Amino acid sequence: MTEQAHSQPLHILKVALDVPLDGVFDYRADTMLQAGQRVLVPFGSRQQVGIVVATASESELEPSKLKAIIRHFDQEPVLDAEFFSLLKFCADYYQYPYGQALLSALPARLRQTEPAQARQQFRYRLNAAGLAAGVADLPPRQVVQRRIFATLRERGRLDEAELAELSPSWRKGIAALCEKGWLEEEQVYAGLRASLQASNVEPELNAEQAHAVQSILLQRDTFQPWLLHGITGSGKTEVYIRLLQAVLEDNDGQALVLVPEINLTPQLEARFRSRLPQYPLVTLHSNLSESERLQNWRLAQSGDARIVIGTRLSVFTPMPKLKFMIVDEEHDTSYKQQDSMRYHARDVALVRAQRRNIPIVLGSATPALETWYNAQSGRYGLLTMQQRAVSQSQLPQVNCVDVSRVQIQDGLSPPLLKALRKRLERGEQSLLFINRRGYAPVLLCNACHWIAPCMRCSSRLVVHLRQGRLRCHHCGHEQKIARQCPSCGNPDLHPTGHGTQRLEETLVKLLPDARILRVDRDSTRRKHALSEMLAAVHAGEVDILIGTQMLAKGHDFPNLTLVGVLDTDSALFSPDFRAAERLFAQLMQVAGRAGRADKPGEVLIQTTFPEHQLFNALRSQDYAAYAQALMQEREVAQFPPYEFLALIKAEANDYAPVQQFLQFAADTARGLGSDALVYDPVRPQMERLKGMERGQLLFQAATRQALQVVLRQLTPQLRAHPLGNRIRWAVDVDPQEF
Ligand code: ADP
Ligand code: ZN
Ligand code: ZN
Repeated sequence: MTEQAHSQPLHILKVALDVPLDGVFDYRADTMLQAGQRVLVPFGSRQQVGIVVATASESELEPSKLKAIIRHFDQEPVLDAEFFSLLKFCADYYQYPYGQALLSALPARLRQTEPAQARQQFRYRLNAAGLAAGVADLPPRQVVQRRIFATLRERGRLDEAELAELSPSWRKGIAALCEKGWLEEEQVYAGLRASLQASNVEPELNAEQAHAVQSILLQRDTFQPWLLHGITGSGKTEVYIRLLQAVLEDNDGQALVLVPEINLTPQLEARFRSRLPQYPLVTLHSNLSESERLQNWRLAQSGDARIVIGTRLSVFTPMPKLKFMIVDEEHDTSYKQQDSMRYHARDVALVRAQRRNIPIVLGSATPALETWYNAQSGRYGLLTMQQRAVSQSQLPQVNCVDVSRVQIQDGLSPPLLKALRKRLERGEQSLLFINRRGYAPVLLCNACHWIAPCMRCSSRLVVHLRQGRLRCHHCGHEQKIARQCPSCGNPDLHPTGHGTQRLEETLVKLLPDARILRVDRDSTRRKHALSEMLAAVHAGEVDILIGTQMLAKGHDFPNLTLVGVLDTDSALFSPDFRAAERLFAQLMQVAGRAGRADKPGEVLIQTTFPEHQLFNALRSQDYAAYAQALMQEREVAQFPPYEFLALIKAEANDYAPVQQFLQFAADTARGLGSDALVYDPVRPQMERLKGMERGQLLFQAATRQALQVVLRQLTPQLRAHPLGNRIRWAVDVDPQEF
């Protein structure tokens, strides 16, 4: 350290880094930076991008031990105080290192060592000189220039996406036209493009919708969570649109709309864009390229984007003028992050709304029991919509086919087949809903009931006949299909169950005239495959759809009048206490696909247990009744929402160190003298996964606070434990899956 440095005032930066350690790190800088700026710093033998979270004039470290930052990236802070405090809250609540929490909430580009300038989007129009010119003024061989020029004359202006459609080398063409001095360029916000397709069709709200909108707007300036409990097709989206109109109209605020899945964003996006054309709208999800993602994030952070539609991670997006939040399909399990920081985006959204003192609307036809409980107790306002918005559209008839009493052929019962035939004759569409994928789930020996297991985890291998392979859908393990039963030698092994491919082949045989489309993860892997398929359904080019969960949500097919449900029984008796709740939500949703327009729909469920209360509730479309029954079970079992849970999950190549680590955790936790109940370490349902032996330790408490007290003291001790780096472990607060 030089003399000169000592005489200068010290600029100390507290920097958060993406390292699995608690706390922030002190660095020295030549000039004072601000919290929210990104810096490049030496850490160990590497360089890392960090975020300045605070500044100071002194450090606990001796000045000579302080390292200097290498450089900073942003001239202005890119992150604000709300971002820091929200992530601090989450890091504490979910027991995750603060620095990692902060950095993982940023778009990838902002975590990289290159300075990240968002690429600006432009659009172009002809200026006076350009308008005065003609195609003939361009060299005949400059095809691209000529095409762009002609199209600009025709359409007035073109943005980058439209130009890209004209020619892949449009940038050169534009550059040449710019050089001629013919063009004017302007920056576009992603949201302005769709205004051309603006729709003025504004349905008159029915009484339930109007009541919901009015109630929410009455308390628009304060923290108030609302549960908008509306059956499928009751017009929840229309309610969202009216709320956004009202909230955005009288201030320059922003709104955040969370959706569970990327697949649902395009539909909602299109509807919002056409109905709210005046408000710049951006989406944030993992299907965007990194540069699009950064650009959209920046538009949200600058306040230019007035509406943000995004999946889970976007709950952290800095939005300085955020005035309103919506969580659509709030019960959806994809709101819960299943690795790194295991946050629940709906719960984080609630915390954020409370801290900002703004309203938040949770929408669902089948709310999570936690949400329902809060709505029943009055903590959340409850708004119910029990009518379908389109008056002619009726609720579907739900019927069960008792599969123990009829002959099933390749998964299809005679009543279901008959119902399919009837739809074909009438020119209506059917959906067969199935919970698995692959040709046939398992390889079964009829002689001894052996089922081909996965050697690496405790799940079963799935038969992929076309490739002649058995595959594990959990860990990816693959092997050849066995010729004979390894247990009894029986040479006659059969695939069982009814995967989507198998069903498709059976249907082709039985209904040769039907046009059949299979929609599952395999058939939609290609980009845009799903939207092309959905378009085909809408165009009436499909008679029978075979689909997995992907189809259950949010898609609206007016000509669909039959939903057949093939595979439910395993979920009825799952050891995971939320399995039945999820099955009910899924079936309600899938039932909602039938008879959306003016044609009545029918749902046929094949099951061995037609009298189960779940199906009774489904028949009467009575969420409240089923929720009531589930709540009683939960209260007796002391499960959420009555008590709170946390899990410590651990895994390693063998179980001994996992057991030892979890036992240490259990003993330590018990020694802390908290009110939380600490169970013994157990093997989870899936004992082995991807070759790793797994174990878990469950905590249960009457309050969140009691859980927090014990976890806060325990986690640092686990991080310091010598086994901590021989095994993989994580804390899962409010776990959703067991
Ligand atoms: P949800 O989101 O609850 O499933 P939607 O908002 O998608 O329901 O509405 C279902 C259908 O009803 C849509 O086609 C929508 O355009 C239409 N709709 C919604 N509200 C009304 C209304 N008040 N009058 C007429 N049609 C409506
Ligand atoms: Zn056998
Ligand atoms: Zn496996």
